[in-house]
Amino acid sequence: ASKLGNVSAKNRSSQYKNGTFHVSGDIMFCSTCNIAVDHKRKATCDRHLETSMYLEKKKKMESAAVSSSEKTKTAQQEIRKVALFNLVEAFTSAKLPLNALDNPALHSYLEGNLKSVG
Ligand SMILES: [Zn+2]
Repeated sequence: ASKLGNVSAKNRSSQYKNGTFHVSGDIMFCSTCNIAVDHKRKATCDRHLETSMYLEKKKKMESAAVSSSEKTKTAQQEIRKVALFNLVEAFTSAKLPLNALDNPALHSYLEGNLKSVG
């Protein structure tokens, strides 16, 4: 019998850095490309992380995260007391990826703002 298939999507994804893959049902998706990756073979997962498609998307996401943290700093100086809604709207209209919301600087900004806004 083949040993393939003994590793669940969840187990496989946990072998990688948080945020690399995510699991839906028993299918493992690359969180960067949002495509299914065969979790049963580790080599397939490793190889996926070396594809130019993955690397380019990752680079784009990282540069988006950097520019969003720069925007957050500016926003802190300029609209410190403006309602939280305006910031969220700015993000939405800028079509920033959802993962920008995982930015720690933004998180602490939002938390601080929530306290002052109430
Ligand atoms: Zn990928």
